[in-house]
Amino acid sequence: MKKTKTFYDKAIALAAAGSELYDRGWVPATSGNFSLRLDDELALLTASGKHKGRLAPTDFIAVDFDGRPVTDGKPSAETLLHTQLYKRFPTVGAVLHCHSTNATLLSRLLADSGAIQLTDYELLKAFDGIDTHAGSVAIPIFDNTQDIAALANEVDQYLLEHPECPGYLIRGHGLYCWGQCLDTCMRNLEALEFMLHCELEMHRLTR
Ligand SMILES: [Zn+2]
Repeated sequence: MKKTKTFYDKAIALAAAGSELYDRGWVPATSGNFSLRLDDELALLTASGKHKGRLAPTDFIAVDFDGRPVTDGKPSAETLLHTQLYKRFPTVGAVLHCHSTNATLLSRLLADSGAIQLTDYELLKAFDGIDTHAGSVAIPIFDNTQDIAALANEVDQYLLEHPECPGYLIRGHGLYCWGQCLDTCMRNLEALEFMLHCELEMHRLTR
């Protein structure tokens, strides 16, 4: 595929987001990966092994929803975790995956419970479709694996049954979240990170 102006515009937007996320300490040491939907069949994704705080527009590749690259470059090892979301939800336009301290620690601490319940937080209203703090949102925790295809299937099964889920954790690894566009996805990510931070502090204070 020839890289279009849309491709480069989206690459520049994701690079700016990457710089912001790196400054927050959420994508250390080339970790994390980001993507945006290009159309009904393709997504733009960070190439493997790039520093996420210093991304150039050439550090992105286009992949189809089965994870196959259609431009030059090596796709991220976790490509299928992005394309699974574009396939499952036609409304998803952006996916961000970070390795923050909060996500890494909480996913280890609470792995046995299978999920983190975010309950009675005002910031739950950041998620589309939620207009009250009174309620609970489950963030599932999946076991880490290098078999990304198997993990993508496991996530897909969960989301088939829980389409309202705003994000998930992988144990000892990090957080995936998504949104209709990059701005929505950044808002969801910030809200999730804030509430994960609160949960971690609560754990520390009440243990
Ligand atoms: Zn990762």
